[in-house]
Amino acid sequence: MSDGMPIYLDYNATTPIDPRVLDAMMPFLTSAYGNPASKSHAFGWQAEAAVETAREQLADLIGASTREIVWTAGATESNNLALRGAAEMYRDRGQHIITCRTEHRAVLDPCQHLAEAGWLLTVLDVDPTGRLDPQQVADAITDQTVLVSVMAANNEVGTLHPIAEIGAVCKARGVLLHCDATQAVGKVPIDVQTMGIDLLSASGHKIYGPKGVGCLYVRRRDPRVRLCCQIHGGQHERGLRSGTLNVPGIVGFGQAAAICREEMPDEAVRLAKLRDRLHHGILDGLDDVYLNGHPTERLPNTLNLSFAYVEGEALMMRLRALAVSSGSACTSESREPSHVLTAMGVDETRINSSLRITLGRYTTAEEIDRAVDEIVRGVTQLRELSPLYELARKTQGHAASRET
Ligand SMILES: *Cc1c(COP(=O)(O)O)cnc(C)c1O
Repeated sequence: MSDGMPIYLDYNATTPIDPRVLDAMMPFLTSAYGNPASKSHAFGWQAEAAVETAREQLADLIGASTREIVWTAGATESNNLALRGAAEMYRDRGQHIITCRTEHRAVLDPCQHLAEAGWLLTVLDVDPTGRLDPQQVADAITDQTVLVSVMAANNEVGTLHPIAEIGAVCKARGVLLHCDATQAVGKVPIDVQTMGIDLLSASGHKIYGPKGVGCLYVRRRDPRVRLCCQIHGGQHERGLRSGTLNVPGIVGFGQAAAICREEMPDEAVRLAKLRDRLHHGILDGLDDVYLNGHPTERLPNTLNLSFAYVEGEALMMRLRALAVSSGSACTSESREPSHVLTAMGVDETRINSSLRITLGRYTTAEEIDRAVDEIVRGVTQLRELSPLYELARKTQGHAASRET
């Protein structure tokens, strides 16, 4: 905080670039400026070699082969290419798509667009922890279904879906599975083979790489997935995504993936410990705090809590020393309460009192202890001003004294 900035606890929104990633990118922002499509000179070959190294790094992280990785400008574009590309390619086979209510807007909006263009769309509900049951997917598949899209990990509450089981259901019925794994990749093990994933989206800036770069995994065997290209141009990326490649971005994304692969086992343990320290610290200092998301099947870095009797916007104002996010309507871009918490059956009051706290590579124990202090103090102060809280204390007090 020496620079006057709050403590950053919003790693699911974006992450800073790791200095090792910047080091890898630097030559490609300066002297190594060739276009990988230039096949006739050393500048082009140098750029192409770097892009292919990055492809290997991404493929290694998710158990794919290099020819299955397509570079994009981020997970939003990857999701659009997967959903629209597959829907258009297989429209003669059937026009039914299945997704889930807690997906990111970058999945829900393209699905909605397809529904408006005549596709039949099923949007599955989740349980109160935000989880989908594979049986729901099995029950929703018809002979018209061509594609199921389910995220690996939710960005707001961190809940992990049983992707391997959903993958097995899809495989058994000959339906493609797209997985928006933007939050899962680099945080928890993801393997497209064992999980039966046919299309997978990932993004650089969620894993300590740069913004504006992402990739789509497109399965080439068992089955070979084909997509209708969405950006036409110079036939880059085997015709799937035209446009001169963002070489420095791709190199950084690759390096970021390699670091995650190396450090994930230890880092996941470290983050889960810090997250639990945060959670327990808050529970020690406050009552009426509720966890949003699955208690165990959850990203190691994600904690989403609701604080009863507290209003979200007021709480955010008190927590100026922390960079966190909230599910409340007042603080969200859409001015609507979180669609994820709504889908989980959380009532609006509780949504408006929710905080999403997400930890990352540069989070320290000292920062967590400061965050506990800030949150406990902020919530306590607001509750002291709340007539509802006072009333609840009194009636609970009566109940307790009657019991004894
Ligand atoms: C951040 C995010 C996206 C969007 O990724 P961009 O690369 O910023 O377009 C999509 N899905 C999920 C789950 C995300 O967390």
